[in-house]
Amino acid sequence: MTHLKCTKCHHVKLLECFGLDKHKASGRVSACKECKAAGDKARYQRNADVLREQARERANRAYATDPAYASRVKAASLARTRANAEENRQRARDWRKANPEAHRANASAWQRNNPAAAAAIGARKRAAKGRALPPWANRDAIRKVYAEAAALRAQGHDVEVDHIIPLQGKNVSGLHVENNLRVIPALDNARKGNRL
Ligand SMILES: [Zn+2]
Repeated sequence: MTHLKCTKCHHVKLLECFGLDKHKASGRVSACKECKAAGDKARYQRNADVLREQARERANRAYATDPAYASRVKAASLARTRANAEENRQRARDWRKANPEAHRANASAWQRNNPAAAAAIGARKRAAKGRALPPWANRDAIRKVYAEAAALRAQGHDVEVDHIIPLQGKNVSGLHVENNLRVIPALDNARKGNRL
């Protein structure tokens, strides 16, 4: 016997196309390897769906019966986010770098959809600048730095004006003066945050 007929696809195939099965008279699995693999995959998929559905039901029951469950889930999720924070930030940075246009569109969409929050952020920044702007500041020199950044952006460079010492730093606060300003890639600024 050199060939077998697959019980699934009904094709006559070479013996090697069937897995070994010592319980069968032929010594081979009745379905060809291809059909067997497809069947295994479908079974696994069905099983995975059932397991997922069971997990969902368990979670729903826990939500309904255990008031602390939601906060535990939230805490675990937060812990995961914190543990992967640097990795997530790097991924976000890479994405922004690769999709500057989409990033800008997302940012303006967020501002449109969250006008109050956007206004609050803007106001906070302006207030910080106002506090940090001493009478002796050279406003022309400051404007020049912003103009330089705008010119670079117009050429397609994703840059922004950075306060070398942040205006709203954790421990120290910089001044909104020309020698505390520099033009840097937007992504670097996001990375620096206000950690000083
Ligand atoms: Zn087959």
